[in-house]
Amino acid sequence: MTMKILLCDPVAETVLEHFRSLDDCTVEEVFDRDALEQEIDDANFLVVRSGTTVDPDLLDQADELIGIVRAGVGLDNIDLEYADEQDVNVENTPEASTNAVAELVIGHILSVFRSIPQADAALKEGNWIKSDLNGREIQGKTTGIIGYGRIGRRVGQLVQAFGSDVVAFDEYIDDETIREHGAQPVSLKELLEQSDIVSVHVPLTDETRHLIGPSELKTLTDDAVLVNCSRGGIYDEEALLEALRNDEIVGVGLDTYEEEPPGDQPLLQEKSMVGTPHIGASTPEAQERIGQLVIDKIETMMRESDT
Ligand code: NAD
Repeated sequence: MTMKILLCDPVAETVLEHFRSLDDCTVEEVFDRDALEQEIDDANFLVVRSGTTVDPDLLDQADELIGIVRAGVGLDNIDLEYADEQDVNVENTPEASTNAVAELVIGHILSVFRSIPQADAALKEGNWIKSDLNGREIQGKTTGIIGYGRIGRRVGQLVQAFGSDVVAFDEYIDDETIREHGAQPVSLKELLEQSDIVSVHVPLTDETRHLIGPSELKTLTDDAVLVNCSRGGIYDEEALLEALRNDEIVGVGLDTYEEEPPGDQPLLQEKSMVGTPHIGASTPEAQERIGQLVIDKIETMMRESDT
């Protein structure tokens, strides 16, 4: 039986090339809703990113659908409950971006510790501000990781390579597992009290919304640095602004915001804030890994549908 795969959003070229090379597959790019609706009735697999909404209306037209692969992490554009009712398998590829996000975290820590963005901007404006820029080193510090899953553990490995101790808080991972992965398990309060660097790696849920709020920021030491490359909404933006303005923490590195793009969010004007525009997963290496995982996940679903 020939399997029909529809690529609904742009993904790594390798996905198209791979399935084109197989005799028992057809693969097409259908980047707009009309084209997708015309092709979906006999499609077996959909590959989507965040741009395609997979709603009941679309799923009702997909009589032969076996599975959907979300190339990336968030599944909020797919009606998971309805897909489950229709016996459609849904997979994503969260493991692909782990290292890319973790390396960006290191970039944020170094940017805040060494004032790299300010140094660069001043130098390019002709200002030699060497005597204003006394940085700090990661070596010998304590890094606290909130959420010790894939990205948290990779950040742990990287900061350990710099010579930092690692403490970790994770509501759903037992102490033994945290120790096995090289960190000292602590409560959230202990983590905030002990850490020079705090990096947040929990998903955004009802439970984690504003996990970093006024009292958590007050618990941090005055010379702590906070990094959030997980999701906006996990830290309270107003409380963070207050903390920076009152010198309650020394600086912050952010990749994600409650609103994206963050528009005129006053945090962006703070000198001690280093920001990037949600680029955690934006490396060709991560995109290639996503492509390979999309291929692997579709092939696994094909094999399982055969049995
Ligand atoms: P993961 O599921 O492997 O790890 C998340 C960890 O958080 C888990 O160990 C879980 O037990 C823990 N956790 C959940 N709720 C918690 C709570 N209330 N308190 C403490 N710990 C809690 O996920 P991951 O792959 O490490 O990704 C982490 C987050 O990073 C994702 O949810 C996503 O929001 C974000 N992310 C950002 C980018 C980016 O471009 N900046 C890219 C990929 C992922």
